[in-house]
Amino acid sequence: MQREYPLGDYVNRFMSQLVAKNPGEPEFHQAVHEVAESVELALQHNPRYVDAKIFERIVEPERVVVFRVPWVDDAGEVQINRGIRVEMNSALGPYKGGLRFHPTVYLGMLKFLAFEQVFKNSLTTLPLGAGKGGADFDPKGRSDGEVMRFCQSFMTELQRHVGQFTDVPAGDIGVGGREIGYLFGQYKRIRNEFTGVLTGKGLAFGGSLIRPEATGFGTVYFAEEMASTRGESLADKECIVSGSGNVAQYTVEKLLDLGAKPVTLSDSGGFIYDKEGIDREKLAWVMDLKNGRRGRIMEYVEQYPHAEFSPVDPRHAHNPLWSVPAQAAFPSATQNEISAEDAGNLLASGVYIVAEGANMPTVPEGVERFVEARILYGPGKAANAGGVAVSGLEMSQNSERRSWTRETVDRRLHTIMVAIHENCRATAEEYGAPGNYVHGANIAGFRKVADAMLAQGIV
Ligand code: NDP
Repeated sequence: MQREYPLGDYVNRFMSQLVAKNPGEPEFHQAVHEVAESVELALQHNPRYVDAKIFERIVEPERVVVFRVPWVDDAGEVQINRGIRVEMNSALGPYKGGLRFHPTVYLGMLKFLAFEQVFKNSLTTLPLGAGKGGADFDPKGRSDGEVMRFCQSFMTELQRHVGQFTDVPAGDIGVGGREIGYLFGQYKRIRNEFTGVLTGKGLAFGGSLIRPEATGFGTVYFAEEMASTRGESLADKECIVSGSGNVAQYTVEKLLDLGAKPVTLSDSGGFIYDKEGIDREKLAWVMDLKNGRRGRIMEYVEQYPHAEFSPVDPRHAHNPLWSVPAQAAFPSATQNEISAEDAGNLLASGVYIVAEGANMPTVPEGVERFVEARILYGPGKAANAGGVAVSGLEMSQNSERRSWTRETVDRRLHTIMVAIHENCRATAEEYGAPGNYVHGANIAGFRKVADAMLAQGIV
């Protein structure tokens, strides 16, 4: 380690300026604050980062596009949504990050997600910049025709700002294979070109095998790596999974592959607890429920009456899902779904492995509890990086105009997750915080972007 340069009250000074400049964006403040606490350690050892104001530049998006998305619903009524694309950082490659369609979407939420993406994409070892986008559109209860017309209107504007060498969006909450297909079709129609402008495409038109599975599979690979540092594996462990969308479904699948026992799934209505375990047949039923019939998770107990359904009231400070006895937890729904009280309940009920499939699912006080308790806690930007990593592999295949086999992509995903884990573990140790994957992920992700930004000058 080199000598330390005193920074005074760096984090507080930095945060008060950030909050003043970006009012009303609490998720963005939260995400930056967490990273600032780690980055301070890196800045203390590298005055060049301080002088070049690298972190001050990283929190300022390179570009933000906000646009009107007008469309006509099935009843003939005109609807207007707001579309946004945050192009956060291109130091390492084209902007890359998902699109979220959810009624809660606003600029501050997408800035938090784009900011997290900077570090996550850096960790993947691939040449990926960072971005995030979406709209305050709620696909729930909308017909396929309505979703298609919305996606077409959204892409009619977005196509001016994206491209295979510029900005390559993918899916996120509310944006799965159906939406990516409609978005791709409209891009191709307007631009008259067939390129890899989006990832998560269908297999027939440039999609990669394992992309749908990648985030969930990768999160479980990361958890398995964390367990191995204590000479353990996930086999036979009871696992709590939240959400029942893309990430949750493939987390359950990979847990089953590794001999673990997933016992819960949820959606915004509540959660199901299946003490006997969610096996492959039950998972196939859930996939059809969610991806085909687009139903609610409470229907699980009609099909499997031995399981229990508990509704969840989002106004409560805790969610009983996180009190289910288990050894491992995989939050895979949304941000801030684990409150401080929930974190305490998880620890009390025996959980000592937490791998975040969702982005920032744990509030800062919850993260503190996990770190203090010295459990194996893998923050989202490291644990769920498998999704964007396989998006990067999809871009490579599109450039080569070839499709790799399932085994090839899965092997590369596994190799990348092992490398991310090792990078986080080793960096945490280097900075005097062994076992702290929060510092490890933030500092390792930051250093690569910071070095690239230094080399590229003041841009
Ligand atoms: P999906 O839309 O496929 O599924 C989201 C799931 O989370 C649904 O079960 C949904 O329930 C639930 N959920 C969403 N919002 C809320 C909320 N406010 N309260 C309670 N439950 C909620 O999304 P994904 O599985 O793709 O994404 C899940 C998480 O993983 C997100 O945080 C996303 O950013 C992150 N992620 C996703 C990646 C990907 O490749 N898809 C990559 C990396 C991270 P309901 O249907 O009732 O809304």
